[in-house]
Amino acid sequence: MAALSLEIVCFFVQLILSKYGDNPFQVLSVRVLLVEDEKRLAENIAGALRETGLAVDCALEGETGSYLAEQGIYDAVVLDLMLPIRSGQSILRGLRQKGLRTPVLILTAQEGKESIIELLNAGADDYLSKPFDLGELLARVKALIRRGKGVSHPVLKLADVEVNTLQQTVFRRGQLIDLSPTEYRILEYLIHRPRVIVSKQELLEHLYDFDWEHDSNVIEAHISNLRRKLNLAETEPLIETLRHRGYRLNGGSAA
Ligand code: CA
Repeated sequence: MAALSLEIVCFFVQLILSKYGDNPFQVLSVRVLLVEDEKRLAENIAGALRETGLAVDCALEGETGSYLAEQGIYDAVVLDLMLPIRSGQSILRGLRQKGLRTPVLILTAQEGKESIIELLNAGADDYLSKPFDLGELLARVKALIRRGKGVSHPVLKLADVEVNTLQQTVFRRGQLIDLSPTEYRILEYLIHRPRVIVSKQELLEHLYDFDWEHDSNVIEAHISNLRRKLNLAETEPLIETLRHRGYRLNGGSAA
């Protein structure tokens, strides 16, 4: 069963790598890997992370978790320690031995200061003891992602648009713009890539994880709403459409 699921996961990873060549990291950013064998807990954490606008992949045992983590396509890994097949400690060591610097947050049921110090020495960036508050987990994961990207400030600015990634609020010329969660996620994704062309497929994958059943018309509809809400009577549209290529967020330099 585990071998079968690993095969399926490998298939998707290969597919991504074959689509985006040797630089999938740029394409699939703001993506979190969750390795947790308690299915209910995994679903809760994944759901909460997705609600904050992150794309999440889950592995329910260590071997799949290790394989995915070592692809280097994640912005953060949330890693349980006690896992079937391969332990969290072993995954962490494997990751660091390969020179991958993906931020790792450890979920531990073990108390003991010594094991925590050992984990931090082995390259963990942060840890939470079970049971933990889901809100605290989200805040820590987002902080790890920001640090990993070298963005220490949660507010991103492009021209007169301001996105607060902690509060998930958007202001334009000081005016609060009321966006749906999906519209917000699209804008946050675009503002991380100012003046870069982002394809519909890329946005779909960011929004819907590995589920590729969605129609790209969905993106067109969201972009159209986003544009309408953001464009306060102006000459140059903020979100530019490039035929057959995608979208580009224009404006001054991002901060
Ligand atoms: Ca466990």
